[in-house]
Amino acid sequence: MSSNNSNKAYPYTAATALAQSLGNIDTTTQAVVPPIHVATTYLRGKDNSYPTGLIYSRADNPTYKPVEALLCQLENGRDALLFSSGMAAATAVFQGLRPGDHVLAPKVMYWALRNWLLNFATDWGLVIEFIDMTDVAAVQTHLQPQRTKLVWLETPGNPLWSISDIKAISKLAHAVGAQVAVDSTCATPLLSRPLELGADIVMHSATKYLNGHSDVISGALIGKHDDALWQRIRAVRAQGGAVPSPHDAAQLLRGMRTMHLRVREACQTAQFIAEQLEQHPAVAEVLYPGLPSFAGHEIAKQQMTGGFGGMLSVRLADGASAAIHVAAHTKLWKRATSLGGVESLIEHRASVEGAGTPCPDDLLRMSCGIEDAYELLEDFLQALPR
Ligand SMILES: *Cc1c(COP(=O)(O)O)cnc(C)c1O
Repeated sequence: MSSNNSNKAYPYTAATALAQSLGNIDTTTQAVVPPIHVATTYLRGKDNSYPTGLIYSRADNPTYKPVEALLCQLENGRDALLFSSGMAAATAVFQGLRPGDHVLAPKVMYWALRNWLLNFATDWGLVIEFIDMTDVAAVQTHLQPQRTKLVWLETPGNPLWSISDIKAISKLAHAVGAQVAVDSTCATPLLSRPLELGADIVMHSATKYLNGHSDVISGALIGKHDDALWQRIRAVRAQGGAVPSPHDAAQLLRGMRTMHLRVREACQTAQFIAEQLEQHPAVAEVLYPGLPSFAGHEIAKQQMTGGFGGMLSVRLADGASAAIHVAAHTKLWKRATSLGGVESLIEHRASVEGAGTPCPDDLLRMSCGIEDAYELLEDFLQALPR
C-alpha cells in the first residue's frame, strides 16, 4: 500500500468532499460507507511478500485510509497520518527531531503540549524556546541558522486565540533551514490551510472539530514533503503504536461528513456572541479573532476564510470570582473542558491549567456548539452575578 494518501484528482469543494467522503465506494460490496477493518494481522504470500503492503495493524490499518485521504484533500497535503490523540500526533513531530535540535514554540499555547515539551522533550535533549509568536520580528531574532529545526505555531492559539502570521514566519524559518508545523485544531481545515501559506506540517486534534461530537479521541498530521522528518514521524507512529482503533477511525469519518455545517454554525454563533458581549458592562474584554478590536484581526482576515472559528474567551470586569460564578450558573453551556463539539462548553481556563499558567484568572473559555445562538447568549447573560 502506498504511503502517499493524497488525492488531488478530486475536483469538488470541501463541502462535497466531506459529505461524500471523497465519493469513495467500497469496491467489493458497493457500500457507500467504507468498511471497518478489525484484523490485526495480514497473510503473507507464498513468495514471502505482503501482497497489499499491510503486515500488522499497529503500523497501519486500511480503515484510516479514507480519513487520511480526506484530510490530504482538505489541507492540500501530500500525506496524512491518523494518531490515537491530538497529543500523540503533536508529540510524534517532536520525537522526529534529534537531541540538540533547537525549537521555537509559542509562549501561550495548548497547555498540555507546553507541559509535555517542558517535562519530556527538554529532558530528551530538545532545546525549546517559548516566544511571542504574534511578533514576527521576535521570531526572526530567535531563529538560529542551521540549529533551529522546527517552529511550532498554534493559530488561533489557546486560550487567548492569538494569531500567528503563518506566511511570514514560514518564510523566515525556511531561510534558516527550519520547518514549520501548525496546530490548526481551532482553525479547522475549512477556515485555514497552513500548507498553502507555507507551513510544512499541519496538526489537528481530531477529537475537536473534525469528529465534532465529543465521543472520539484522535489526532492527525498532514505533511507536504516526503522527507527525512516525515519518514521519522511515520516510524514514530508505526513503532510507538499511537494509532486509533479502527472503530474510532470509522466514527471520526462519520463525524467529519458534517464538519462544514457544524463549523459554519459555530463560527456564526461565536461572532454573534463576541459582538454582543463586547458591549456588555460586566465584560472587560472579549478575545475573538473576528472582532475588529482584536489584535490579530487583520492577519486573521488574511489567513482565515469563511469565519474566525467557534472559540472565544471572555474576561469578566469583576475578576476571577465573577468568571467562576458565570461558569457555575449557565444551564446550556456545559461546564467542561475540550472544544469543537456540537454542545457548547464553558470553562474557567486558569483552573484547568493550574499553577504557572499565563491565562488570566478572570477568563472564561467558550466553545460554541450548534445550539440556537440567542438561547446561548441569554443563558450566558442570566448566569452573570447580580
Ligand atoms: C485538544 C487539543 C490538543 C490535544 O488533542 P487531544 O486529542 O486531546 O490529545 C492539541 N491542541 C489543541 C489546540 C487542542 O485543542
